[in-house]
Amino acid sequence: MKKIYLDYAATTPMHPAVAKAMQGYFSEDFGNPSSLHSIGQKAKDAVEQARYEVAHILGAKPKEIIFTSGGSESNNFAIKGVTHAMKDKGNHIITSKIEHHAVLEPYHFLQKNGFDVTFLSVDNYGVVDPDDVKKAIIDKTILVSIMHANNEIGTIEPIEEISKICRNKGVYLHTDAVQSFGSLDTNVDKLGVDFLSISAHKFYGPKGVGLLYIKQGTRISPLIHGGAQEWNKRASTHNVPGIVGLAKAAQLAIVEKDERVKHYSHLRDKLIKLIFEKIEDVKLNGHPEKRLPNNCHIILKYVEGESMLLKLDAIGIEVATGSACSSGSLEPSHVLLSIGITPEDAHGSLRLTIGRLTTEQDIDYVGEHLPKIVDDLRRMSPIGKGNR
Ligand SMILES: *Cc1c(COP(=O)(O)O)cnc(C)c1O
Repeated sequence: MKKIYLDYAATTPMHPAVAKAMQGYFSEDFGNPSSLHSIGQKAKDAVEQARYEVAHILGAKPKEIIFTSGGSESNNFAIKGVTHAMKDKGNHIITSKIEHHAVLEPYHFLQKNGFDVTFLSVDNYGVVDPDDVKKAIIDKTILVSIMHANNEIGTIEPIEEISKICRNKGVYLHTDAVQSFGSLDTNVDKLGVDFLSISAHKFYGPKGVGLLYIKQGTRISPLIHGGAQEWNKRASTHNVPGIVGLAKAAQLAIVEKDERVKHYSHLRDKLIKLIFEKIEDVKLNGHPEKRLPNNCHIILKYVEGESMLLKLDAIGIEVATGSACSSGSLEPSHVLLSIGITPEDAHGSLRLTIGRLTTEQDIDYVGEHLPKIVDDLRRMSPIGKGNR
């Protein structure tokens, strides 16, 4: 069966050139970068070369890059590490209601452990108002964490404006740039952030590797204690193939950025157009312009996201939903509820995210089959339009 993968926000297939770059570091050049002999030093050179390359891409210094096991660790490291190191200054921290769980859950954890937490509301497009950040900052505030772009609805946050406010007030700013890297400019100086997280598997690199940018001079405690790797900031033997793969994927993302963004946005716009032409009672979520080029997030009224997902999967189309069961909880997506969508409507949400390998034919195929599936489900459904 033809497979049409439209879930690139969940993960991406590794680029063949990335797999090739990693290959030599599994069995051949397998050394531990902390070993002083030749094979160890060869591995160390590979890690340091990778660090140099990704630092350059982010506009950072090599010493400001700490390799981690991915986006979740980078976010946890920034949030728990800063709050621990800065607790003499205060115990107030700020974030938004639409962050990824890898930011929200560390905030909830800290809230249970004596921190005062402000979860900022967003507007109906999912945008954080920089003025709200300004108003929320008090003397005791030590950290603001606002994502660069949202993983569900694709909305891009005004990080540059928020960073000016944070700099003025002397408060650290972390941004989760896991979804934006490769599609938006993630130069750390332009963004004005103190901490930034990225994850390789979201941009055609390997799973289980990411990094945290840590601005020189900022205070942060380690999350993982042990050996002296990463200047005592993150113990554990380096994931050498992973780090090499991350750097290769990052380089390709930058070299191909314009081409990829053009490809994504062209197919995204075509997909949205087809859906709106062929299906009634549909709504686009997220910001009309300030959105990731590959994101199409819609509400299809009177249908269940899971039913659509399964019917689409049966004909080879792979998508995501913000409906309840998919997230493994009883509640629909916190992001959709935060932008004012009713729980009922949130159950009919679909996220289609485009990638390097998506073709015109793939989009045509979706345009051909999705309307029919929606139509069938609406006719069968007890919450269907016909039954209201
Ligand atoms: C995928 C994702 C993460 C988690 O990254 P992992 O590497 O899978 O741990 C964090 N934040 C956002 C916005 C993401 O999309």
